Amino acid sequence: MAKITIAIDGFSSTGKSTVARQLADALDYIYVDSGAMYRAVTFFAINHGIIDPGSGAFDREALLEQLPQIKVAFRKNENTGKAEVCLNDESVEDRIRTMEVSSFVSTVAAIPEVRQKLVEQQRLMGKNKGVVMDGRDIGTVVFPDAELKLFMTASPKIRATRRYKELLEKGEEITYEKVLENVEARDLADSTRKDSPLIKAEDAVEIDNSDMGEKEQFERILSHARNLISGR
Ligand code: C5P
Repeated sequence: MAKITIAIDGFSSTGKSTVARQLADALDYIYVDSGAMYRAVTFFAINHGIIDPGSGAFDREALLEQLPQIKVAFRKNENTGKAEVCLNDESVEDRIRTMEVSSFVSTVAAIPEVRQKLVEQQRLMGKNKGVVMDGRDIGTVVFPDAELKLFMTASPKIRATRRYKELLEKGEEITYEKVLENVEARDLADSTRKDSPLIKAEDAVEIDNSDMGEKEQFERILSHARNLISGR
């Protein structure tokens, strides 16, 4: 059966990755979490003293200089069966979703050279279609010809509550207010940056899941995707 490309964009913590992963499993497609790639580069910058989380200082030139040495890739974890993001061949999957990384990732993601490098890789991963990729610019920049584009939203408070719960479960000490602040700051930075801002592609289907259950949302999207695939 012909394969399609599915692009899922939207604000932070709208459940993009959950639905993207479910769709990829159901359709036997590859799932790519493009946000994890920007997070991995940010993690590198923090670990190499390019970003000082204490003062917030960021040496942009140093990051540009070291960019060619930063290798981001996905590798399947044989125990869980899930793809994990690797930085220079080491899995960093468990270390990139901290508040520290979240606080700097939008600054790193606004740098055109970083985007160019990662977008090139993302296009290669999707060159044979059969891919579900989530992010901020997938339907607008990475795969403007994707057959199915979704744009996900939900109210900031609902999104912050979801992210807060996730972080608590991981044992991070954090307040709800800090999480809300970060979610709002990232949305603003991502939507207003010059290069590839987060905007809804004209042909994207908008889904506000503030009041929608995960199962209902998934079933609706899957049936939409199946219709598209069988009509090809
Ligand atoms: O999806 P996630 O919230 O993990 O993404 C982290 C950050 O990476 C976003 O806030 C955004 O700054 C950046 N990003 C991006 N373009 C993408 C995916 C993520 O700029 N395609």
